Amino acid sequence: MKIAIASGKGGTGKTTLSTNLAAFFAENEELVLVDLDVEEPNSGLFIKGDAVKTEEKYKMIPQWNQDSCTLCGKCQQNCNFHAVIFLKTQVLVFPELCHSCYACSELCPTGALPMVAQRMGQLKQIKKEKLNFIESRLDIGQEQAVPLIGQTLEYIDQNFPKETIKLLDSPPGTSCPVIEATKDADFIILVTEPTPFGMHDLRLAIETMQSLNKEFGVVINRDGIGTNDIDNYCTENNIPILARIPNSKKLAEIYSKGELTYKKFPAFENELQKIKTYITNLKIS
Ligand code: SF4
Ligand code: SF4
Repeated sequence: MKIAIASGKGGTGKTTLSTNLAAFFAENEELVLVDLDVEEPNSGLFIKGDAVKTEEKYKMIPQWNQDSCTLCGKCQQNCNFHAVIFLKTQVLVFPELCHSCYACSELCPTGALPMVAQRMGQLKQIKKEKLNFIESRLDIGQEQAVPLIGQTLEYIDQNFPKETIKLLDSPPGTSCPVIEATKDADFIILVTEPTPFGMHDLRLAIETMQSLNKEFGVVINRDGIGTNDIDNYCTENNIPILARIPNSKKLAEIYSKGELTYKKFPAFENELQKIKTYITNLKIS
């Protein structure tokens, strides 16, 4: 079972929820927490354990071979991402724009654009008792999160049993990285906060999940501040509110020290139990 934790914007408490929920679940059963916010992973600040594995991750990029090129220009026509430019006397490849689709390489009449591996980042696996933590991080200068997210999800599928619960800490926003991170999830938890910005971004996140035909529920972080707009919206649209994380200075102080908070904050632990009960009772086909 894959449960993605997402939000319309950053800073809503997604990492707080992901790390604490993972540790809470792992008190009783094997669980996998995956940080898919590969541009800026930070769940690892809260999960300390033994290093199990490190893997370099690569993506395939075409490399121009001048000797076999006939300067026909077809590669530029075949690239939908403007990652190959034909300049009459040479071909330029822009790896940061390349989506590794192989079109230019396979359609080159002389095989002058072989695909070669280029490092894009690193995956780390950590274990702390029943909690398996996977973090992928893009190298500095790499601009495409989607290939690394895809490879990280493949790693999860290959290394953990299907029935193990996987919590996917997804990138914020509603663009390609969050779609890649959530597209195979069985259920989405959308984290928001009761402010006008939270309401605005929650609507966008809900539209995205509806377009993917995903089942989802909402967790309200910093409950007690702002307005009731999110409550009203969820009631009107039949969207379940799974839990409410109280707005608390004490909770923020513990978080700022890089510690898991729920053990020191029973009201938060009660809310995690509500989410666990909801997830456990989900009927996943
Ligand atoms: S398609 Fe192949 S042969 Fe034609 S310009 Fe591009 S690299 Fe050269
Ligand atoms: S592999 Fe695809 S995206 Fe990359 S340069 Fe070739 S055609 Fe463009």
